[in-house]
Amino acid sequence: MAKGVWILAEVKAGKLKKTGFELLSGSRKIVEELGEELVAVVLGSGVEPLAEELGHYGANKVLVADDEILKDYTTDAYTKVLVDLIKEREPSIFLGPASAMGKDLLPRIASRLHTGLASDCIELRLDENKNLAPKRPVYAGKANIEVSFSEDRPQMAAIRPNVLSVIEPDTSRKAEVEKVKVDVPPESLKATLKEIVKGASEKIDLTEAGIIISGGRAMKDPENFKILWDLAEVFGPGTTVGASRAAVDSGYAPQDMQVGQTGKVVNPNLYIACGISGAIQHLAGMRTSKVIVAINKDPEAPIFQKADYGIVGDLFKVVPILTEEFKKLLSE
Ligand SMILES: Cc1cc2nc3c(=O)[nH]c(=O)nc-3n(C[C@H](O)[C@H](O)[C@H](O)COP(=O)(O)OP(=O)(O)OC[C@H]3O[C@@H](n4cnc5c(N)ncnc54)[C@H](O)[C@@H]3O)c2cc1C
Repeated sequence: MAKGVWILAEVKAGKLKKTGFELLSGSRKIVEELGEELVAVVLGSGVEPLAEELGHYGANKVLVADDEILKDYTTDAYTKVLVDLIKEREPSIFLGPASAMGKDLLPRIASRLHTGLASDCIELRLDENKNLAPKRPVYAGKANIEVSFSEDRPQMAAIRPNVLSVIEPDTSRKAEVEKVKVDVPPESLKATLKEIVKGASEKIDLTEAGIIISGGRAMKDPENFKILWDLAEVFGPGTTVGASRAAVDSGYAPQDMQVGQTGKVVNPNLYIACGISGAIQHLAGMRTSKVIVAINKDPEAPIFQKADYGIVGDLFKVVPILTEEFKKLLSE
């Protein structure tokens, strides 16, 4: 019996993350094809008021696990709540974000439920038998594969942030909201959160940024990243700064800014690569960006083969000009 398509709506600092809206928007087609209900699950402390907004993005129902013990994300507590809930209600599909939290949580849930998980997916669809058949990149993004599932339920997938477009919210839409039981004895937690040490950047996480300006080895000094932050400032919220591994290894930028195979996989609307050559391991982290702009003084740099727009020139001259021009353009 069909029990619904569930999406995990992640919460950060008391707010719903965009990934939840992406998952709701991107699931509508498969929900329609399956003729099942679309359910959002939200976990946290004081999160009940957030349920209404999930309804605006298409959730028929919102399951709210609201408890002090869920205030901060912990693998043990979140896994227990979700596994209990999934075992009890048996959804046919469970989708979550391939965010830092999703990458930690979803494999744990799948393993507890003895079901399959397609990780890091970039497209959501059903096959001809109405089984989930998401696409995911392999070989550092050189090819995509379609994942198929066995008989086990739920079929689980983690979807990359920024790949599914968000629909316009409809404030007249209301979801049924149900508070669910949270049964996590504090003594059952094997790890508890003591402190959150903020990363170098106060800005949004790279994986969720709409615009990323990245610097490579050519930045030459940590101080020089300021020109990239200045440009980011002009683009406004949703913009952040990344780095190549060469820049990170040289000590110009912290590791949490690294984009690539051994860094973060990003998928912004606009990626501006400044003084980055375009090594395969860097491309693995940003090749699915919707528009790529490369600034490099070497016209033969491989990044130009991947870029939609290329500027051959010295980034220390080009970036400040872009900052000034965008400032004028965006203030008009
Ligand atoms: C297992 C493995 C994993 C890896 N993982 C990653 C990863 O996750 N991310 C990653 O980025 N790399 C990764 N690498 C490293 C990768 O192979 C490259 O070495 C790295 O991406 C190069 O960084 P870069 O482009 O900044 O530096 P370079 O390759 O040195 O390129 C610098 C570029 O800047 C240009 N330039 C110089 N001065 C200027 C200027 N003033 N203005 C404009 N352009 C200028 C040059 O023409 C050149 O193209 C990995 C490598 C291995 C082996």
